[in-house]
Amino acid sequence: MITGFETADIRFPTSLSLDGSDAMNPDPDYSAAYVWMTTDAGDSGHSFVFTIGRGNDVQVAAIEALRERFVGRDADELLGDMGAVWRDLVHDSQLRWLGPEKGVMHMAIGAVVNALWDLKAKRAGLPLWELLASMSPEELVGLADFRYLSDALTRDEALEILRAAEPGRAARREQLLSDGYPAYATSPGWLGYDDEKLARLCREAVDDGFELIKLKVGGSVDDDVRRLKIAREVVGDDVRIAVDANQRWDVGEAIEWMRALEPYDLAWIEEPTNPDDVLGHAAIARGVSMPVATGEHMANRVMFKQFLQAEALQVLQIDATRVAGVNENLAILLLAAKFGVPVCPHAGGVGLCEAVQHLSMFDFVAVSGSIDGRVIEFVDHLHEHFVTPVEVRDGRYLAPTAPGAGTEMTTRG
Ligand SMILES: [Mg+2]
Repeated sequence: MITGFETADIRFPTSLSLDGSDAMNPDPDYSAAYVWMTTDAGDSGHSFVFTIGRGNDVQVAAIEALRERFVGRDADELLGDMGAVWRDLVHDSQLRWLGPEKGVMHMAIGAVVNALWDLKAKRAGLPLWELLASMSPEELVGLADFRYLSDALTRDEALEILRAAEPGRAARREQLLSDGYPAYATSPGWLGYDDEKLARLCREAVDDGFELIKLKVGGSVDDDVRRLKIAREVVGDDVRIAVDANQRWDVGEAIEWMRALEPYDLAWIEEPTNPDDVLGHAAIARGVSMPVATGEHMANRVMFKQFLQAEALQVLQIDATRVAGVNENLAILLLAAKFGVPVCPHAGGVGLCEAVQHLSMFDFVAVSGSIDGRVIEFVDHLHEHFVTPVEVRDGRYLAPTAPGAGTEMTTRG
């Protein structure tokens, strides 16, 4: 039985060192709206929503509103049908009014769903990626909600994708355990860093084995050109460079700005404009020479569907705490596989690396079956606050082996 449901408002003063600074978020204080559920069996499930400071209390209050749905419930029953748990919460008409299926309440649902996944994986004695990758295609499609998706992806098509990946699961699991999963480094490129720090961190990223780095852009074209020139000189031609505008531009401005940056051979332009603007992204994708990446602020699976249908993104960036948890991200991974678009998750913040690595690794073993063109963001901040921090070596995430979802923190605020 679930006996406890606790929350905490945890904030880190990252704005003091300009870590995380970009064109839209000059002074983020990385924060977690943290939740953990305890049981009469003595175990617990932990998760969080990542925010950047002000409003973290609002996010905590939204999670608190879900307390009555869990305390006193039979944990085995909940964990035995995670698809039903998800639908009960997301389809609740009164909660749904606050979205629908987007924003603070939807993210709160994601946190409690993910806390249950953490508990379920701990009880199974498996890391979350491996728990998911051990489930049958039928069990997996039972977790996803195909309402609003069937014009792009039916349950039967999802089953086909998962069944096609089944024969190679064991070999890919072994590959993952021995070689890890490719990572890329964002730490060098925060907009608030001076040129000297940029060059030093670019060099360190290459020395650390990263084959892709990302720079923030969108402050001024001249600064961006200067910083890209420095980065390209330091990393050489073999390391790829992506850029991220964090929603700074209008559509026409994005196309014009990116044309000025074209000579630097960019891996992608990330979040060029408002994350809800499907047709705007499609126009940008047609107007620039590099792939368009987005997804970290995409509210739900329906938005991902539309972006894919409109060919508005070429790199799909899931986020572990933006949508309603593992179940909705599973639906998004299936959509990406159907459309043949690589998933390169957003991470960093507080605990996003710890959480999202499980989804990419599960995708590799049991969904897309591919690592080609795929890479997980890595930012080297705040990992020390987690019970099982990520391990990144030679530019790769090592597959976690500890039971759970990686989302348990050592601090309670
Ligand atoms: Mg970004």
